[in-house]
Amino acid sequence: MFLEVDVPICVVGKVFKPNAQKILALNRCLLEFMRAVRFYVKLKDTSRRHNQSSYEEAKAMFRLPTALIQNARDKAGEILKSFEENRKEDSVLVLKRISVRFDSRCYSFSKTTNVLTPYWLSLKLNHGRRVSLPVVFGERQRQLIEDAFQGKLQFATVEMVKRKGKWYAHFVVKKTVFFEEPETVIGIDVGENNLAVAVAFKDKPRKAKFWRGSKLKQLRWKNSQVRANLQQKNKLDIVKRLQGRERRQVNQELHKLANEIVEYVKEFENPIIAMEDLTKMRNSIHYGKKMNRRLHTLPFRQLQQFIEYKALWRGIPVTYVKAKNTSKTCHRCGNVKKLLNGEVYRCSVCGMVYSRDLNASINIAKRLLGQKAKPKSEEFGGDVNPLNQQMQITAKSLI
Ligand SMILES: [Zn+2]
Repeated sequence: MFLEVDVPICVVGKVFKPNAQKILALNRCLLEFMRAVRFYVKLKDTSRRHNQSSYEEAKAMFRLPTALIQNARDKAGEILKSFEENRKEDSVLVLKRISVRFDSRCYSFSKTTNVLTPYWLSLKLNHGRRVSLPVVFGERQRQLIEDAFQGKLQFATVEMVKRKGKWYAHFVVKKTVFFEEPETVIGIDVGENNLAVAVAFKDKPRKAKFWRGSKLKQLRWKNSQVRANLQQKNKLDIVKRLQGRERRQVNQELHKLANEIVEYVKEFENPIIAMEDLTKMRNSIHYGKKMNRRLHTLPFRQLQQFIEYKALWRGIPVTYVKAKNTSKTCHRCGNVKKLLNGEVYRCSVCGMVYSRDLNASINIAKRLLGQKAKPKSEEFGGDVNPLNQQMQITAKSLI
């Protein structure tokens, strides 16, 4: 065994017909928690270090249990980090629809013989109030919860999410996975031409696979046309509604793609996935305005995140390499081109002619092999919170 890592996944249940009192209590807690998150976002307290003075201040300001104050601080840190990673040009941070995070100090979850639903969630709210809520699950989600009750998975935190007036409990459960010593590096390049290109690398590149992502691009294009049309007619409420639908359609397509990619990866002996670290690239390189807009139209980072957590859940390690020059370098001779155009890479030094995106994915795999250093466990588990995808923030562009 090479490494042991806890991989989180999110299981969503619905709070079943809570009465008016419980709803009121949840709403009050949510408001207070949101105030606390705002307070910490303002402080820009991104570090995990315990900041005693700000904690005392928060404790005096908000009537929340200690655990919730600490969770609000953690949440603020994550929101700021995610905002920095995903920020677009001229974007401002808008906080909305924050969920309340409970951990083992302030929630308990048990299975009872109640006929309505066996699953009951008890929460410690603000002002020392406690509520007990019945939770119902869909079949697939219920199976995961049962696995957790049987000890195959571990309960971590619960996020209470309010959507369209209804309350949902997002349980984060963790699975301990064991990584074997990696043998085959799978380089995955995500990009404009081909949405993803994967290649296995063990001594030499093998069995490359291309995903054009045509359906996703079509979806984006169609939606942008519809949106432009509506904006012209000043029907902004419809635009907003469509954005939600578009996000769901795009997510569904990304999930499908990520599943296919992980299925491909599973064919290889003890694989490890290498992808480019796009977060650093985005902030350090200035593309032209047009290029920048294109970069942000397709959700590359999100695709990477989906691949990452689906792979980890199946016991496949994932790691990131520096993105610099992965497209511009010839994987055969190491020559670095100044300019790239078209879908084909032609090397002026060794004469190699190759698919540009495939050349990039080979470079990504080789870069990991070149690093030699074994990845630390926090590089795997630490940052993979399935909830980051549902983080209730929007980086709203000022147009
Ligand atoms: Zn070359």
